[in-house]
Amino acid sequence: MPLFVLGPQCLIFDMPARGETSLSGSAQIEQALHRLNTLGSVLMIAAHPDDENTALLAYYARGRSMRTGYLSLTRGEGGQNLIGPEQGDVLGVIRTQELLAARRIDGAEQFFTRAIDFGYTKSADETLAKWGREKVLSDIVWVIRKFRPDIVILRFSGTPRDGHGQHQSSAILGQEAFFAAADPARFPEQFRYVKPWQAHRLLFNVFSFSAQQEKEAREMPNRIEVDTGEFNPVLGKSYMEIAGISRSLHRSQGMGAPERRGPSKNYLVTVAGPVAEHEAFDGIDATWARVRGGDSIGKILSEAVRTFRSEQPEKTIPLLLKARPMIAAAIDDPWARVKLAELDEVLALLSGLWLDATTERYAALRGSVVTIHMEAINRSEFPITWSGSLVFQNENAGFQIGAGVMRDPLELAYNEPHQDKSAWKVPQNQLYSKPYWLRKPHTADIYEVDQPEWIGLADTPPLLTARFELNFNGTSVTLDRPVHYRYVDPTGGELTRGLVIVPAVAVNLPEGVVLFPSEAPKKIEVELKANAANEAGELHLDLPQGWHVEPASQPFHLGDEGSEQALTFSVTPPRAQSEAHLRAIATTKDGDISSGLTVVAFPHIPTQVLFPDAAAKVERTDVKLTARRVAYVMGAGDQVPEALRQLGSDVTLLSAHDLAERDLSSFDAIVTGVRAYNVRPDLRANQQRLLDYVHGGGTLIVQYNVAEGGPFGGHRSGELAHIGPFPLEIGRDRVTVEDSPVRFIQPDHALLSYPNHITEHDFDNWVQERGLYFASKWDPQYQPVLEANDPGEKGLEGGMLYARYGKGVYIFSAYSWFRELPAGVPGAYRIFANMLSARGQR
Ligand SMILES: [Zn+2]
Repeated sequence: MPLFVLGPQCLIFDMPARGETSLSGSAQIEQALHRLNTLGSVLMIAAHPDDENTALLAYYARGRSMRTGYLSLTRGEGGQNLIGPEQGDVLGVIRTQELLAARRIDGAEQFFTRAIDFGYTKSADETLAKWGREKVLSDIVWVIRKFRPDIVILRFSGTPRDGHGQHQSSAILGQEAFFAAADPARFPEQFRYVKPWQAHRLLFNVFSFSAQQEKEAREMPNRIEVDTGEFNPVLGKSYMEIAGISRSLHRSQGMGAPERRGPSKNYLVTVAGPVAEHEAFDGIDATWARVRGGDSIGKILSEAVRTFRSEQPEKTIPLLLKARPMIAAAIDDPWARVKLAELDEVLALLSGLWLDATTERYAALRGSVVTIHMEAINRSEFPITWSGSLVFQNENAGFQIGAGVMRDPLELAYNEPHQDKSAWKVPQNQLYSKPYWLRKPHTADIYEVDQPEWIGLADTPPLLTARFELNFNGTSVTLDRPVHYRYVDPTGGELTRGLVIVPAVAVNLPEGVVLFPSEAPKKIEVELKANAANEAGELHLDLPQGWHVEPASQPFHLGDEGSEQALTFSVTPPRAQSEAHLRAIATTKDGDISSGLTVVAFPHIPTQVLFPDAAAKVERTDVKLTARRVAYVMGAGDQVPEALRQLGSDVTLLSAHDLAERDLSSFDAIVTGVRAYNVRPDLRANQQRLLDYVHGGGTLIVQYNVAEGGPFGGHRSGELAHIGPFPLEIGRDRVTVEDSPVRFIQPDHALLSYPNHITEHDFDNWVQERGLYFASKWDPQYQPVLEANDPGEKGLEGGMLYARYGKGVYIFSAYSWFRELPAGVPGAYRIFANMLSARGQR
C-alpha cells in the first residue's frame, strides 16, 4: 500500500499543469496531445490587464501549442471601474479574476508582479521611483527564471511613444530582466528555488495607438508578421475570434470586443538575441529533441497525436504510458517535469476520469472541523485503480493533513462513483482567507508579500489540495485537485467557489471615512454578522486621545448563523482639525476580531470573499454647506453619494423615472456621477429638464465623462454633445501628478470663497491624480476657475468651468472628486461643498 509523502514540487508552485480551460471533449484532448509534444514557451510582458495581445496569446497557446504566459506588472487597481463602485484593492481583485477568466479562453497562463497600478502617469521615471525599480525588476526576473521562456515579447517600446509611464516601464524593465535573468550575480537569493535563465530572443510586438504609429510599425526594419486571423478548424474559430471572446471578459474596463474574421497582421521586431527572420521561434528547437533521450519520447507522442480517435480516446492511453517512464527518467530537466505533470492530466482526459474534492460549506471557522469528500469516476473501460488519497494545506510549504491512505486499492469500474473522506481541524491561528498580496498593509505603489515563492502567482493557491494516487494498469500516477465548494445556484447553475476561513463574527464598518464638518458628535454604526450560531461578546471602538466615544463598549448576542446586529456609538471629535484612525473590535470567547467580510460577486468571475479591516479614517475639519437637499445621478458607479451624506446633506439617487417625471425644483443641487452621460441614455434623454432646472434657479454639477471615441471606445457620437447649457467639448487632457500645483484664475470667485474660503492647502494630500478628461473647448459664457498642469506641461483651464444660466448655476468639474472624497481629503470636501452651495452664492 503506498504511503506517499509530498514531493518537492509543493515547496514552490510550479506552473499549473492543469490550467482550467473553456474547452472539453476531443478539441481539448487534441490540444493537450499537441501541447505534450511541443517544447517551446513564450512570455508576454506589459503593464496592465488589457495591455496583452490576446490574439497573439491564443495563437501561440492554442495554435502553436506553446506554453504561453502573460506577465502583467500590475493588477489594474488604478483604473476606472465600469461595472461598480469598487476601486483600488478590490478592483485589483476583480481584474485579477477577469484576466484568469480570459486566460481560460485563450489558453495562456497568468502572472503578476507586486507593482500596483497607482493611476495614470506620463512618466517612466515617476513610475520606477514609486514602484522601486529593483523590486519590480526582481519580480520579472523571478517569473522569467521560473517560466523559462524561449521568447519574451514586450508590448511596449520603453519610450514616450507608449503613452502611460507604466507602459514605458514595462518595456524598460522587461528588457533589463531579459539579461538579468541570465546573470548569476543578479538576485542570487532566488537561486534557492531557480537557476539563471537566458531566453533566446526578445521581441517587441508593436502596439499602435494611432494610424501614424500603425504606419510606422509597418515600416519597421527586421519585422516579422504573424497572422492571427488564421482559422483553427479543431476549435472552429480564428485566433482573433478567440481573442474577442477572451477580451470581452475585461468587463470592469468595458472591453467588449468584436470577434473579428479575416486576416489580421501583427508585427514582431527583434530587440535582443538573434534576429528573427521568418518567425518568432527561428532557431529554436521546440521538440522533444531538446531533452536527453527525448527523440524516442517525441516519436511515441507523435504517434499518439496521429492515432488519436475521438470516439475511443482511451486507446491512446497505452502510448502515453509507454512514454511516461522515459520522461520520468529525464526528470532533472525542467521541461520533463512540466511535461510529466501535463501527461498525467492528459491520461485523466483520455479516460474521462472525474476527480473532485469538495467541502460541505464554502466557509469554515478557526477551530472547526472541515470534512473533505473526494470522488473518483472512471468514464472509460481502461483499468484504473484508486490506491490512496491525502489532503494537504498549501500554506507553509504544504502541511499534510492526516495520513489519508486507503486500505485496499479500489478498482474504478466504468462510470461507478467511488468516494473517500478526510477531515481537517482548522488551527486556531489560521489566517482568514485574504488574497496573498493583500495580507500585509501596503503603500499605494507596491504590495508586500510574506512568502517570496508566491510572488508572481496570479491567485492565492487553494487553501487545501486533494491528492489522488491512481494506478493506470500498473503505472502509478498522482493527480491534484483543489478542495472547493460545489453548489447549484438557481439562476447560475452548478458553480464552485474556493473554501475560505472566515471570522466567527464579521465586524463591518460601512464607512471607510467619517467626516466631522463641525464639533458636533456623530453616530457611527458597526454591523456585526454571525458566521456561527450563538456568538456573543463585547464591541468597542478604539480611538486616539482627544476623541470621545459613548458608550465605552456594548455587549452583543447574535442568535442563528447569518444573523446580524447593528450597534451605534456616538463619537465626539476634538475641536481643532484632526485626523485619526478608528478601529472596531469585537471581543469574543475566541479572542479579538477586527475584520469585516465583503463578498464580490459578478456573473463573469468566481465569487471572491475579502476581509477588510474593521477600520476607518476619522477626519475633523471645518466644512460649511448651505445645500441640504442634493440629488445624484449615479453613472458607472462611485462612492460620492456617501461622501455627500458625510457633509450633512440629504442625498436622493435619481432613477430614470425621476429624471423624466419628478419635480426637480426642490433640490438645492443635482450632481451627475462619473461617466453618467456615457452610460445613462435616460440622463441624456432628459438633459433639457436638467437645464430647465438650472434655468429656474438650480445648481447642476457635472463630473467627468469619457471623451467620445476614448480608450473605452464604442460610444455613439453625439453622446456628450449637449452636456452643458452652452457649447462645451470634452478632450483627453489629464493632470496625473496628484501634488501638481493648482492656480486660482479668479481668486475671489464665488466658488472659491463661499461658504468655505478655499486656499492652496485645500489641494494638499490629494491621491492618485488631479483630474481627467478636462474640457478642451468651451463657450465664453463659461468661466474657468482653476488651472493645473503636470510638470513641464502647459496649464489646463478646462478642469472646472462655471456658468450662470437663467437664475441658476452650471458647473463642469473633471477634478477627481470620486477619488478624493472617499479618501477623506479635507480640501476636496470644502471645494465640493462650495459647488453644492452655489445657489446661495448670489
Ligand atoms: Zn495599459
